[in-house]
Amino acid sequence: MRQDIKLFKVIGIQISIDYSWFIIFALVAWSLAQGYFPYFRPGLTVGSYWFMGFLSSLLLFASVVVHELCHSYVAKRMGVDIKEITLFIFGGVAQLSREPDRAEEELKIAIAGPAASIALAVFFFLLTKAVATLHPTSIFIDIFRYTFIINIVLAVFNLIPGFPLDGGRILRAIWWWKTADLERATQVASNAGKAFSTFLIFLGILQILRLNIIGGVWAILIGMFLRQAAESSYQQLVVKRILWGIKVRDIMTRDPVAVDSTMPLERVVEEYFFHHPYVSYPVLEGGKVIGLLTLQDIRRVPKEEWGRLTAGEVVERLDEDLFLHPDDRVSEALEKMINLGRGRLVVVEGERLTGIVTRRDIMKLLEVRRIVGG
Ligand SMILES: [Zn+2]
Repeated sequence: MRQDIKLFKVIGIQISIDYSWFIIFALVAWSLAQGYFPYFRPGLTVGSYWFMGFLSSLLLFASVVVHELCHSYVAKRMGVDIKEITLFIFGGVAQLSREPDRAEEELKIAIAGPAASIALAVFFFLLTKAVATLHPTSIFIDIFRYTFIINIVLAVFNLIPGFPLDGGRILRAIWWWKTADLERATQVASNAGKAFSTFLIFLGILQILRLNIIGGVWAILIGMFLRQAAESSYQQLVVKRILWGIKVRDIMTRDPVAVDSTMPLERVVEEYFFHHPYVSYPVLEGGKVIGLLTLQDIRRVPKEEWGRLTAGEVVERLDEDLFLHPDDRVSEALEKMINLGRGRLVVVEGERLTGIVTRRDIMKLLEVRRIVGG
């Protein structure tokens, strides 16, 4: 599971930051306070430089949030739900609940972010000019000018045509539009991403040879990150493609053997775990599923207690969003399992238990489809 901190909600979207962001925040503030501002605006106190560095970092952070929010806003209008935006070491990632269905949607969602950055750049450019006219000695001139530059950098970097950057998404959308072949389009865009990452790594090595160590290390790190992202997003698409159109009801184990919540553990072990080949059993309370009883749950209870405690008292109670519906897509079920770190999920229709799906079921399906095709 990823480690992130939830900050606040805007238009129903949770904004979170990854721990790596604190490192970036501190690094940016430090390099601005120690290097950038003293160079461009000499003669101020150390305190002023730190204030400028801190405020500029906050504005950078806000600029990234606005960029991501604009992607999300457009996505929401297209009917693609966004649950969370996580800011991590190289900017932000909006977690789309699904991939867009049409090239046009993807194009609009992808363009929204860089468009926002360009709009912010224009805004801060004008603000810099305005403050410079009214208060020619204000330190805010330098802070706003930095924010203007950083938004240009954000727009340009994100427009690089390599998947999964925005530019790569735009390239993919156009290719997809022209050829109607999403898989091929993704391959082209992710190859472009890999080519660009190789170029960045090469550039980084060159910088290090020229003794620009910090710049070189940055270029190599970003290059490696992009390379990995380009590869994994292509693989994800292939998996989604194979699972396309398959519903949970097509692969679930129907009417799984369930345990009543009032049954003592002793009887559960004897009558269920010893008699059936399954490793976990849904627990029903008044006909409603409340959880999945596993061997681990039972192992946690001392044997002397098995006659006294019931299945309902021992089982971990599940939230409703941990359930699947028979009409859910298998690709969504797999994503849910990966995100939650769970190997099996219960399928519920209304309040009635209808099935169970395991990660192994999905893996088997992937394997078969890969070999047999279809
Ligand atoms: Zn973006």
